[in-house]
Amino acid sequence: MLASHLFSGLLAFTLFSGVAVAQQQDHVNPWAPTELHNLAPIASLTDGVWMKGDLHVHSGHSKEASNNSVGHILSYANSIGFDYIAITDHDNHVLGDVAHNTWTDPDYKSGSPILLYGAEWTTTRGHGNVFSATSYDHQRLYDVRDQRDIVVGAVKKELGVHLSANHPSGKDHFGYSYDMVDSIEVWNSALWSKNANAIMIWDDMLSSGRKLTGRGGSDAHHGIPDTPEQATKNSAQAKYNYIGTPTTWVFAKERTRRAVIDALTNGRVSVSANPYAPRVEFYADLDQDGKMDIMMGDNAKATGKPVKFRVQLTGKAVLADATYTVKVVKDGNPFNTYTLMGKTPIAEFTDTPAERGRTFYRVTVEGPATPYPQVPESMKLSEPMVGLSNPIYFNFDPNF
Ligand SMILES: [Zn+2]
Ligand SMILES: [Zn+2]
Repeated sequence: MLASHLFSGLLAFTLFSGVAVAQQQDHVNPWAPTELHNLAPIASLTDGVWMKGDLHVHSGHSKEASNNSVGHILSYANSIGFDYIAITDHDNHVLGDVAHNTWTDPDYKSGSPILLYGAEWTTTRGHGNVFSATSYDHQRLYDVRDQRDIVVGAVKKELGVHLSANHPSGKDHFGYSYDMVDSIEVWNSALWSKNANAIMIWDDMLSSGRKLTGRGGSDAHHGIPDTPEQATKNSAQAKYNYIGTPTTWVFAKERTRRAVIDALTNGRVSVSANPYAPRVEFYADLDQDGKMDIMMGDNAKATGKPVKFRVQLTGKAVLADATYTVKVVKDGNPFNTYTLMGKTPIAEFTDTPAERGRTFYRVTVEGPATPYPQVPESMKLSEPMVGLSNPIYFNFDPNF
Protein backbone atom coordinates (compact mmCIF):
# COMPACT_ATOMS: atom_id res chain seq x y z
CA MET A 1 0.00 0.00 0.00
CA LEU A 2 2.70 2.43 1.05
CA ALA A 3 4.84 1.70 -1.97
CA SER A 4 2.04 1.99 -4.50
CA HIS A 5 1.00 5.28 -2.93
CA LEU A 6 4.51 6.70 -3.16
CA PHE A 7 5.03 5.70 -6.79
CA SER A 8 1.45 6.15 -8.05
CA GLY A 9 1.39 7.22 -11.67
CA LEU A 10 5.06 6.39 -12.24
CA LEU A 11 5.61 2.78 -11.38
CA ALA A 12 3.58 -0.38 -11.06
CA PHE A 13 4.60 -3.39 -8.98
CA THR A 14 4.56 -6.78 -10.62
CA LEU A 15 4.97 -10.04 -8.79
CA PHE A 16 7.80 -12.06 -10.32
CA SER A 17 8.44 -15.43 -8.65
CA GLY A 18 7.19 -13.95 -5.39
CA VAL A 19 9.42 -10.85 -5.62
CA ALA A 20 7.88 -7.43 -6.20
CA VAL A 21 9.53 -5.76 -9.22
CA ALA A 22 9.12 -2.10 -10.03
CA GLN A 23 8.24 -1.38 -13.64
CA GLN A 24 7.44 1.80 -15.54
CA GLN A 25 3.80 1.67 -16.60
CA ASP A 26 4.33 3.39 -19.93
CA HIS A 27 7.46 1.43 -20.87
CA VAL A 28 7.39 0.01 -24.39
CA ASN A 29 10.16 -2.42 -25.33
CA PRO A 30 11.19 -1.43 -28.86
CA TRP A 31 12.56 -4.95 -29.39
CA ALA A 32 9.32 -6.76 -28.50
CA PRO A 33 8.13 -9.14 -31.23
CA THR A 34 5.97 -7.60 -33.93
CA GLU A 35 4.07 -9.15 -36.78
CA LEU A 36 6.42 -10.33 -39.56
CA HIS A 37 5.56 -9.78 -43.21
CA ASN A 38 8.86 -10.56 -44.90
CA LEU A 39 9.39 -14.31 -44.48
CA ALA A 40 10.92 -16.06 -47.48
CA PRO A 41 8.66 -18.50 -49.35
CA ILE A 42 9.21 -22.15 -48.39
CA ALA A 43 11.36 -24.09 -50.88
CA SER A 44 10.18 -27.36 -52.40
CA LEU A 45 10.13 -30.41 -50.13
CA THR A 46 10.76 -32.77 -53.05
CA ASP A 47 12.96 -30.87 -55.52
CA GLY A 48 16.34 -31.77 -54.03
CA VAL A 49 18.59 -34.58 -52.91
CA TRP A 50 19.67 -35.86 -49.50
CA MET A 51 23.45 -35.85 -49.28
CA LYS A 52 25.57 -37.23 -46.48
CA GLY A 53 29.00 -36.08 -45.40
CA ASP A 54 31.43 -35.07 -42.69
CA LEU A 55 32.17 -31.41 -41.99
CA HIS A 56 35.22 -31.78 -39.75
CA VAL A 57 38.16 -33.94 -40.88
CA HIS A 58 41.93 -33.39 -40.48
CA SER A 59 44.44 -34.52 -43.08
CA GLY A 60 48.22 -34.84 -42.80
CA HIS A 61 48.44 -31.06 -43.31
CA SER A 62 47.38 -30.81 -39.65
CA LYS A 63 50.61 -31.57 -37.80
CA GLU A 64 49.02 -33.80 -35.13
CA ALA A 65 47.19 -36.01 -37.66
CA SER A 66 48.55 -39.43 -38.68
CA ASN A 67 47.98 -41.83 -41.59
CA ASN A 68 45.28 -39.52 -42.94
CA SER A 69 46.51 -38.07 -46.21
CA VAL A 70 44.07 -36.17 -48.43
CA GLY A 71 44.13 -39.11 -50.85
CA HIS A 72 43.45 -41.59 -48.04
CA ILE A 73 40.47 -39.54 -46.79
CA LEU A 74 38.91 -39.14 -50.23
CA SER A 75 39.27 -42.77 -51.26
CA TYR A 76 37.79 -43.89 -47.92
CA ALA A 77 34.88 -41.42 -48.18
CA ASN A 78 34.21 -42.58 -51.73
CA SER A 79 34.23 -46.25 -50.70
CA ILE A 80 31.56 -45.60 -48.05
CA GLY A 81 29.44 -43.52 -50.43
CA PHE A 82 29.74 -40.10 -48.81
CA ASP A 83 28.37 -37.36 -51.07
CA TYR A 84 30.46 -34.47 -49.74
CA ILE A 85 33.29 -33.82 -47.30
CA ALA A 86 35.14 -30.87 -45.77
CA ILE A 87 38.83 -31.31 -44.96
CA THR A 88 39.36 -28.74 -42.24
CA ASP A 89 43.05 -28.59 -41.35
CA HIS A 90 44.32 -26.36 -38.55
CA ASP A 91 45.18 -23.07 -40.23
CA ASN A 92 47.71 -22.11 -37.54
CA HIS A 93 49.90 -25.08 -38.51
CA VAL A 94 50.58 -23.33 -41.82
CA LEU A 95 50.29 -19.75 -40.51
CA GLY A 96 47.00 -19.28 -42.33
CA ASP A 97 48.24 -20.40 -45.76
CA VAL A 98 45.85 -23.33 -46.32
CA ALA A 99 45.64 -22.23 -49.97
CA HIS A 100 49.23 -23.43 -50.58
CA ASN A 101 49.04 -26.50 -48.37
CA THR A 102 45.79 -28.51 -48.09
CA TRP A 103 44.20 -26.92 -51.17
CA THR A 104 47.23 -27.50 -53.43
CA ASP A 105 47.75 -31.09 -52.30
CA PRO A 106 47.92 -33.14 -55.57
CA ASP A 107 45.10 -35.35 -54.28
CA TYR A 108 42.80 -32.43 -53.38
CA LYS A 109 40.19 -32.90 -56.14
CA SER A 110 36.44 -32.49 -55.94
CA GLY A 111 34.40 -35.26 -57.52
CA SER A 112 33.15 -38.22 -55.54
CA PRO A 113 32.74 -37.00 -52.89
CA ILE A 114 32.20 -33.28 -53.50
CA LEU A 115 35.01 -31.49 -51.67
CA LEU A 116 34.19 -28.21 -49.92
CA TYR A 117 36.82 -25.51 -49.46
CA GLY A 118 37.55 -24.92 -45.80
CA ALA A 119 39.86 -24.97 -42.82
CA GLU A 120 39.70 -25.05 -39.03
CA TRP A 121 40.21 -21.47 -37.89
CA THR A 122 42.45 -22.21 -34.91
CA THR A 123 42.79 -19.22 -32.63
CA THR A 124 43.48 -18.03 -29.09
CA ARG A 125 39.72 -17.74 -28.54
CA GLY A 126 38.90 -21.19 -29.84
CA HIS A 127 38.07 -23.01 -33.04
CA GLY A 128 35.62 -22.50 -35.87
CA ASN A 129 35.25 -24.25 -39.21
CA VAL A 130 35.04 -22.28 -42.42
CA PHE A 131 33.13 -23.72 -45.39
CA SER A 132 33.02 -22.28 -48.88
CA ALA A 133 31.85 -23.36 -52.34
CA THR A 134 34.82 -21.58 -53.95
CA SER A 135 38.39 -20.85 -52.90
CA TYR A 136 38.64 -17.72 -50.78
CA ASP A 137 41.38 -15.72 -49.07
CA HIS A 138 41.64 -17.69 -45.83
CA GLN A 139 44.84 -15.84 -44.91
CA ARG A 140 42.75 -12.72 -44.17
CA LEU A 141 40.63 -14.59 -41.64
CA TYR A 142 43.74 -16.03 -40.00
CA ASP A 143 45.39 -12.60 -39.81
CA VAL A 144 42.35 -10.98 -38.16
CA ARG A 145 41.85 -13.70 -35.54
CA ASP A 146 42.92 -11.65 -32.51
CA GLN A 147 40.99 -8.52 -33.45
CA ARG A 148 37.66 -7.46 -31.99
CA ASP A 149 34.57 -9.36 -33.15
CA ILE A 150 33.30 -6.38 -35.14
CA VAL A 151 36.48 -6.45 -37.27
CA VAL A 152 36.46 -10.25 -37.60
CA GLY A 153 32.76 -10.20 -38.56
CA ALA A 154 33.36 -7.63 -41.30
CA VAL A 155 36.14 -9.76 -42.86
CA LYS A 156 34.00 -12.88 -42.66
CA LYS A 157 31.16 -11.04 -44.42
CA GLU A 158 33.46 -9.73 -47.16
CA LEU A 159 34.82 -13.22 -47.82
CA GLY A 160 31.26 -14.55 -48.14
CA VAL A 161 32.09 -17.77 -46.28
CA HIS A 162 30.04 -19.96 -43.95
CA LEU A 163 31.49 -19.84 -40.42
CA SER A 164 30.64 -22.52 -37.89
CA ALA A 165 31.35 -22.69 -34.14
CA ASN A 166 33.33 -25.86 -33.30
CA HIS A 167 33.02 -28.10 -30.20
CA PRO A 168 31.40 -25.14 -28.39
CA SER A 169 31.49 -26.62 -24.90
CA GLY A 170 34.79 -28.46 -25.13
CA LYS A 171 38.44 -27.58 -25.01
CA ASP A 172 39.16 -24.72 -27.41
CA HIS A 173 35.47 -23.84 -27.43
CA PHE A 174 34.32 -21.13 -29.82
CA GLY A 175 34.88 -17.93 -27.84
CA TYR A 176 33.65 -15.34 -30.34
CA SER A 177 30.20 -13.80 -30.79
CA TYR A 178 27.63 -16.23 -32.14
CA ASP A 179 26.28 -13.35 -34.22
CA MET A 180 29.08 -14.10 -36.72
CA VAL A 181 28.33 -17.78 -37.22
CA ASP A 182 25.95 -19.62 -39.52
CA SER A 183 26.05 -22.99 -37.77
CA ILE A 184 27.21 -24.73 -34.62
CA GLU A 185 28.82 -28.15 -34.12
CA VAL A 186 26.26 -29.71 -31.78
CA TRP A 187 27.63 -33.23 -32.27
CA ASN A 188 31.43 -33.50 -32.26
CA SER A 189 32.96 -37.01 -32.64
CA ALA A 190 31.47 -40.41 -31.88
CA LEU A 191 31.52 -39.67 -28.15
CA TRP A 192 27.94 -38.41 -27.88
CA SER A 193 27.86 -37.88 -24.11
CA LYS A 194 30.32 -34.98 -24.19
CA ASN A 195 27.96 -32.93 -26.41
CA ALA A 196 25.27 -32.23 -23.80
CA ASN A 197 26.53 -28.72 -23.10
CA ALA A 198 26.86 -27.95 -26.80
CA ILE A 199 23.14 -28.70 -27.14
CA MET A 200 22.44 -26.36 -24.22
CA ILE A 201 24.34 -23.52 -25.93
CA TRP A 202 22.46 -24.22 -29.18
CA ASP A 203 19.09 -24.05 -27.41
CA ASP A 204 20.08 -20.76 -25.78
CA MET A 205 21.06 -19.26 -29.14
CA LEU A 206 17.83 -20.48 -30.75
CA SER A 207 15.71 -19.26 -27.83
CA SER A 208 17.23 -15.79 -28.15
CA GLY A 209 16.23 -15.50 -31.82
CA ARG A 210 19.35 -16.76 -33.58
CA LYS A 211 18.39 -19.10 -36.43
CA LEU A 212 21.48 -21.26 -36.22
CA THR A 213 21.96 -24.61 -37.95
CA GLY A 214 23.11 -27.53 -35.79
CA ARG A 215 25.62 -29.81 -37.53
CA GLY A 216 27.97 -32.70 -36.80
CA GLY A 217 31.69 -33.27 -37.32
CA SER A 218 33.89 -36.26 -36.51
CA ASP A 219 37.05 -34.20 -35.96
CA ALA A 220 38.88 -37.35 -37.13
CA HIS A 221 42.66 -36.91 -37.10
CA HIS A 222 43.97 -40.46 -37.51
CA GLY A 223 43.56 -43.01 -40.30
CA ILE A 224 44.25 -46.70 -40.36
CA PRO A 225 47.93 -47.31 -41.23
CA ASP A 226 48.69 -49.18 -44.47
CA THR A 227 51.48 -51.13 -42.78
CA PRO A 228 52.11 -51.95 -39.09
CA GLU A 229 55.30 -49.82 -39.25
CA GLN A 230 53.18 -46.72 -39.95
CA ALA A 231 51.15 -47.12 -36.76
CA THR A 232 51.29 -44.32 -34.19
CA LYS A 233 50.14 -44.23 -30.58
CA ASN A 234 46.89 -42.66 -31.87
CA SER A 235 46.15 -45.17 -34.65
CA ALA A 236 43.66 -47.03 -32.46
CA GLN A 237 41.42 -43.92 -32.53
CA ALA A 238 40.38 -44.74 -36.11
CA LYS A 239 38.40 -47.72 -34.79
CA TYR A 240 36.45 -45.48 -32.38
CA ASN A 241 36.05 -42.22 -34.27
CA TYR A 242 36.48 -41.70 -37.97
CA ILE A 243 34.88 -40.09 -41.01
CA GLY A 244 31.10 -40.17 -40.54
CA THR A 245 30.91 -40.40 -36.75
CA PRO A 246 28.61 -38.53 -36.83
CA THR A 247 27.27 -38.04 -40.37
CA THR A 248 25.61 -34.76 -41.36
CA TRP A 249 22.75 -35.00 -43.90
CA VAL A 250 21.78 -31.96 -45.98
CA PHE A 251 18.78 -31.64 -48.30
CA ALA A 252 20.46 -29.82 -51.21
CA LYS A 253 18.80 -28.46 -54.34
CA GLU A 254 21.45 -30.19 -56.48
CA ARG A 255 24.77 -32.03 -56.19
CA THR A 256 27.05 -29.00 -56.09
CA ARG A 257 29.29 -27.39 -53.51
CA ARG A 258 27.12 -24.27 -53.56
CA ALA A 259 23.94 -26.25 -52.89
CA VAL A 260 25.54 -28.15 -49.98
CA ILE A 261 26.60 -24.88 -48.30
CA ASP A 262 23.20 -23.27 -48.94
CA ALA A 263 21.40 -26.23 -47.37
CA LEU A 264 23.76 -26.04 -44.41
CA THR A 265 23.10 -22.33 -43.97
CA ASN A 266 19.33 -22.75 -44.34
CA GLY A 267 19.19 -25.61 -41.85
CA ARG A 268 17.69 -28.37 -43.97
CA VAL A 269 20.03 -30.62 -42.04
CA SER A 270 19.94 -33.59 -39.70
CA VAL A 271 22.71 -35.54 -38.00
CA SER A 272 22.97 -39.34 -37.67
CA ALA A 273 25.34 -41.40 -35.53
CA ASN A 274 27.06 -42.84 -38.62
CA PRO A 275 26.54 -43.17 -42.39
CA TYR A 276 24.45 -46.34 -42.02
CA ALA A 277 22.24 -45.11 -39.16
CA PRO A 278 18.67 -43.99 -39.97
CA ARG A 279 18.19 -40.38 -41.08
CA VAL A 280 15.80 -38.23 -39.02
CA GLU A 281 13.37 -36.14 -41.05
CA PHE A 282 11.07 -33.57 -39.45
CA TYR A 283 8.13 -31.96 -41.27
CA ALA A 284 5.04 -29.89 -40.53
CA ASP A 285 1.62 -29.56 -42.13
CA LEU A 286 0.59 -25.94 -41.59
CA ASP A 287 -3.01 -26.09 -42.82
CA GLN A 288 -3.97 -29.60 -41.72
CA ASP A 289 -4.69 -30.79 -45.28
CA GLY A 290 -2.66 -33.97 -44.70
CA LYS A 291 0.21 -32.76 -46.89
CA MET A 292 3.48 -31.65 -45.32
CA ASP A 293 4.35 -28.02 -46.16
CA ILE A 294 7.68 -27.33 -44.46
CA MET A 295 10.67 -29.20 -43.09
CA MET A 296 13.42 -28.64 -40.54
CA GLY A 297 15.29 -25.41 -41.20
CA ASP A 298 12.19 -23.73 -42.62
CA ASN A 299 10.67 -20.66 -40.98
CA ALA A 300 6.92 -20.06 -41.29
CA LYS A 301 4.50 -17.47 -40.01
CA ALA A 302 2.35 -18.79 -37.16
CA THR A 303 -1.36 -18.39 -37.82
CA GLY A 304 -2.66 -19.21 -34.36
CA LYS A 305 -4.11 -22.46 -35.75
CA PRO A 306 -2.89 -25.97 -34.85
CA VAL A 307 0.04 -27.40 -36.83
CA LYS A 308 0.61 -31.11 -37.39
CA PHE A 309 4.23 -32.26 -37.06
CA ARG A 310 5.74 -35.48 -38.42
CA VAL A 311 8.99 -37.18 -37.40
CA GLN A 312 10.17 -40.05 -39.58
CA LEU A 313 13.17 -42.31 -39.78
CA THR A 314 14.41 -43.39 -43.18
CA GLY A 315 17.22 -45.59 -44.40
CA LYS A 316 18.00 -49.25 -44.85
CA ALA A 317 19.21 -49.53 -41.27
CA VAL A 318 15.81 -48.93 -39.67
CA LEU A 319 15.31 -52.07 -37.63
CA ALA A 320 11.74 -53.34 -38.00
CA ASP A 321 11.70 -54.94 -34.55
CA ALA A 322 13.41 -52.03 -32.77
CA THR A 323 11.86 -49.32 -30.65
CA TYR A 324 13.05 -45.74 -31.12
CA THR A 325 12.32 -42.90 -28.71
CA VAL A 326 11.60 -39.45 -30.13
CA LYS A 327 12.11 -36.52 -27.78
CA VAL A 328 10.54 -33.25 -28.92
CA VAL A 329 12.08 -30.01 -27.64
CA LYS A 330 9.99 -26.82 -27.86
CA ASP A 331 11.75 -23.49 -27.27
CA GLY A 332 14.61 -25.25 -25.49
CA ASN A 333 12.37 -27.22 -23.10
CA PRO A 334 11.23 -30.86 -23.18
CA PHE A 335 7.81 -30.93 -24.88
CA ASN A 336 6.87 -34.58 -25.31
CA THR A 337 8.22 -38.08 -25.92
CA TYR A 338 6.97 -40.57 -28.51
CA THR A 339 7.79 -44.16 -29.40
CA LEU A 340 8.51 -45.26 -32.97
CA MET A 341 8.30 -48.83 -34.24
CA GLY A 342 7.96 -50.73 -37.50
CA LYS A 343 9.65 -50.67 -40.88
CA THR A 344 8.77 -47.04 -41.68
CA PRO A 345 8.67 -45.44 -38.23
CA ILE A 346 6.62 -42.24 -38.07
CA ALA A 347 5.41 -40.17 -35.11
CA GLU A 348 2.92 -37.31 -35.45
CA PHE A 349 1.82 -34.68 -32.98
CA THR A 350 -0.14 -31.45 -33.05
CA ASP A 351 0.62 -28.14 -31.36
CA THR A 352 -0.27 -24.50 -31.86
CA PRO A 353 2.74 -22.16 -32.08
CA ALA A 354 2.04 -18.70 -30.63
CA GLU A 355 0.69 -16.25 -33.18
CA ARG A 356 2.99 -13.51 -31.87
CA GLY A 357 6.66 -14.11 -31.00
CA ARG A 358 9.06 -16.92 -31.85
CA THR A 359 8.58 -20.68 -31.42
CA PHE A 360 10.84 -23.55 -32.46
CA TYR A 361 10.57 -27.33 -32.33
CA ARG A 362 13.38 -29.85 -32.78
CA VAL A 363 13.70 -33.57 -32.15
CA THR A 364 16.27 -36.11 -31.03
CA VAL A 365 15.92 -39.84 -31.64
CA GLU A 366 17.38 -42.49 -29.36
CA GLY A 367 17.44 -46.24 -29.88
CA PRO A 368 19.63 -49.17 -30.84
CA ALA A 369 22.97 -48.34 -32.45
CA THR A 370 23.55 -49.16 -36.11
CA PRO A 371 26.74 -51.12 -36.83
CA TYR A 372 29.49 -49.23 -38.71
CA PRO A 373 31.84 -52.12 -39.54
CA GLN A 374 34.71 -49.87 -40.68
CA VAL A 375 34.64 -48.00 -37.33
CA PRO A 376 33.49 -50.88 -35.13
CA GLU A 377 34.04 -49.31 -31.70
CA SER A 378 32.06 -46.14 -32.47
CA MET A 379 28.68 -47.71 -31.63
CA LYS A 380 29.40 -47.89 -27.90
CA LEU A 381 30.47 -44.23 -27.82
CA SER A 382 27.41 -42.95 -29.71
CA GLU A 383 24.72 -44.84 -27.81
CA PRO A 384 21.88 -44.18 -27.30
CA MET A 385 21.79 -41.40 -29.92
CA VAL A 386 20.48 -42.34 -33.35
CA GLY A 387 20.07 -38.84 -34.74
CA LEU A 388 18.84 -35.29 -34.28
CA SER A 389 16.96 -32.82 -36.43
CA ASN A 390 17.30 -29.12 -36.93
CA PRO A 391 14.39 -26.98 -35.72
CA ILE A 392 11.21 -26.04 -37.50
CA TYR A 393 10.89 -22.29 -36.87
CA PHE A 394 7.90 -19.99 -36.48
CA ASN A 395 8.13 -16.20 -36.62
CA PHE A 396 11.93 -15.97 -36.63
CA ASP A 397 12.78 -12.50 -37.93
CA PRO A 398 14.93 -12.86 -41.09
CA ASN A 399 16.33 -9.38 -40.40
CA PHE A 400 17.50 -10.32 -36.93
ZN1 LIG B 1 39.12 -27.94 -32.90
ZN1 LIG C 1 39.38 -30.21 -35.44
